[in-house]
Amino acid sequence: MIHLQKLAEPVVLVNNGATWTAEFLSRKAAGTLTPVVRFRYRHPTIKQCLREETSEKCAYCESKVSHVHPGETDHILPVSEKPELCVSWENLTYVCSECNREKSDYFSDAEPLVNPYTDEPSDHLYFVGPLVLHRDAKGLRTQRQLKLSRTALVERKQEMLERINLLVHQWNETGEGPTKDFLREEILSYAEDGSEFAATVRAYLRTVGLL
Ligand SMILES: [Zn+2]
Repeated sequence: MIHLQKLAEPVVLVNNGATWTAEFLSRKAAGTLTPVVRFRYRHPTIKQCLREETSEKCAYCESKVSHVHPGETDHILPVSEKPELCVSWENLTYVCSECNREKSDYFSDAEPLVNPYTDEPSDHLYFVGPLVLHRDAKGLRTQRQLKLSRTALVERKQEMLERINLLVHQWNETGEGPTKDFLREEILSYAEDGSEFAATVRAYLRTVGLL
């Protein structure tokens, strides 16, 4: 998980957010919610904007969300607890189906999860090899609730770290010159915001002195 920044609110939300929220709340109170009203937050323009915002990665586990396993628009705070935030731009993000399922309707005012937009995730989580461990109670809750060290993620991160490790080895063995510079650039590209598992890669590159 890395820190994320909200992009500008999509025009469709600027123009319709208040009306959509009012309709959602009144229909919910009356017990007449329809799928159209309930799922307006999944509007394709909103989703596209969220995909851009997260570089097409899950906001929590940083998996690249592919067309094979399409990502989902998620309420950071669940609508079951915060219906007034049903189409709030600040409350929407893009996640993989696994994290969405694990997070479910978790909500606690007193014990919130790490929010990648308002928190610096590395203040709460350690990225150790392919694992995600916790620094504090908020990190522990988040790591456990989202299962951030689940087997499928650990295996994919391990493969990625082994691949980068080979490049680092090659970089170490190469004498000064354009080839070494090129290798360094390639290695560092894995740590960019848009790269998969950037937090994991950054932690590794710090241990080998490349960051
Ligand atoms: Zn995820």
